Amino acid sequence: MKAPEKRGESMHPYKIVEIQFEETMRITGITYSEKKDLLFPFREVTVEVPVRMDNGDIEVFVGYRVQHNGARGPMKGGIRFHPEVDLFEVRGLAALMSLKTALMDIPFGGAKGGVTVDPSKLSLPELERLTRKYTQRIGLILGPFRDIPAPDVNTNAQVMAWIFDEYSKAHGFTPAVVTGKPVPLGGAPGREEATGKGVAFITSLAAKDFGIELQNARIAIQGFGNVGSNAAKFLHQMGAKIVAISDVNVALFKPDGINIPEAYEYYRKNRTLKGYEAEGVEVLDREDLFKIETDILIPAALGGAISKEKNVDYIKTRMIIEAANSPITPTAEKILLERRVTIVPDILANAGGVIGSYFEWVQNLQEFRWEKEEFFQRMENILRKAYTSVLDLSKREGIDLRKSAYAIAISRLAEAERLRGSY
Ligand code: NAD
Repeated sequence: MKAPEKRGESMHPYKIVEIQFEETMRITGITYSEKKDLLFPFREVTVEVPVRMDNGDIEVFVGYRVQHNGARGPMKGGIRFHPEVDLFEVRGLAALMSLKTALMDIPFGGAKGGVTVDPSKLSLPELERLTRKYTQRIGLILGPFRDIPAPDVNTNAQVMAWIFDEYSKAHGFTPAVVTGKPVPLGGAPGREEATGKGVAFITSLAAKDFGIELQNARIAIQGFGNVGSNAAKFLHQMGAKIVAISDVNVALFKPDGINIPEAYEYYRKNRTLKGYEAEGVEVLDREDLFKIETDILIPAALGGAISKEKNVDYIKTRMIIEAANSPITPTAEKILLERRVTIVPDILANAGGVIGSYFEWVQNLQEFRWEKEEFFQRMENILRKAYTSVLDLSKREGIDLRKSAYAIAISRLAEAERLRGSY
């Protein structure tokens, strides 16, 4: 299956996954036909999403759900509302989810969904109607043992609550059909912060192993949504100095460290960093964040943020933690690796979210709940185990962390496929 190579300036996520898949074939020992089988999505659905707007008109949006691989468990992955969503992006992100769940060794496969829409242009009732219609249209292929959505870019606990409600209308009370729900509706305390908390935890492990002292490290974080702001919050609590943050509107820079709790509150209230003022904080264009010299750079916005065309030439950092999915294009990655920048790949760095979703799903199925402390403790145990295995294989084989993470994940997927005997 051919995906377009280019998407604006950067490469399509599915193409990126395909390239990385091929690069790990030597280590995994999988055959070309196994590779083809593992890469090709299990099922793809494109749906029309007609929505009655507040002014009475009907607007038609397009929605997608791609189920990539379910050999190891029900398929799992977020739903994104964004004007740039298309089938190829969703396909790539779905494949990443299969790899992520396999690397974490949790009993899920991979999926992803999205609607091509700018939600900032919708009223709250329009957003609710869009979510409900999209859920109706993809509802046939969802289910707690089939495919379980979660939040992603521009979707949140409220959106998950509408999905849960809409699905339950047709199937009876089914909280386990979606994760990242509000806590009073079966959400797990800790899930909302889980991805950012996991990013901070992985950053602390990698910093230690690669000779960066977290307390004195200069860290910049691109994107201040669910993942970026929570990663900033937990890194700040660990004593790290966050010198720059950004969102879609602006970047903020303070050489001796931004007051993260204050910026966090400001963003929660205003949904943007624009207009935030504090002594010593310089306001920059959002892309200028990449020009700041750092020890650790954390892209936590969208895919393709770091590319040869855009910025790799002036990025000066020692380590990149991929909080976003697919934030570095393969060409940029090669350049960074040649410069000996350590890159901690997305399927490891941001896996706290899907681990949290796994806990929420388990708790919904069994109707119990853990306290936040236990949730985070268990999440960190899984992350530590995965991180250690990735680091060990990378040292043993002399390969970078992404290849190592892919090799472990692909081997597990291939083994599950073989054992299930899909032919
Ligand atoms: P979000 O919608 O909550 O936040 C996105 C943030 O990125 C916002 O602050 C937005 O202003 C900012 N942004 C958008 N374009 C930007 C640009 N060009 N420059 C700077 N900032 C920009 O989304 P999120 O849930 O935090 O997801 C962020 C990334 O993390 C995505 O790549 C997503 O796939 C990945 N991710 C999310 C989760 C999760 O649990 N939410 C889990 C794993 C991975």
